[in-house]
Amino acid sequence: MSKKLPDGYEVQTSYPFTCATCGHEQMARPSIMMHGFGLNTGHGKCMECGTFLHLEIDTEKQVMLSQDWDEWLAEETAANEETTE
Ligand SMILES: [Zn+2]
Repeated sequence: MSKKLPDGYEVQTSYPFTCATCGHEQMARPSIMMHGFGLNTGHGKCMECGTFLHLEIDTEKQVMLSQDWDEWLAEETAANEETTE
């Protein structure tokens, strides 16, 4: 299950994030998933190394958290399997 988007996020704001793979700092806007469906989940590609990343907003720190997409997906799948019993 994806987390609900927390209060306090801004559609028009670009959030900084650091690539989980190469550490390159860049900016991203909340994705279509975020403002279309209200879910705190998105994705993007690192401009530096091209890694496909899962992104979610940390509204406290006003940053995006990045994670390698495949890693994130494996964790999500594992979490879902645990709760689908
Ligand atoms: Zn990168």
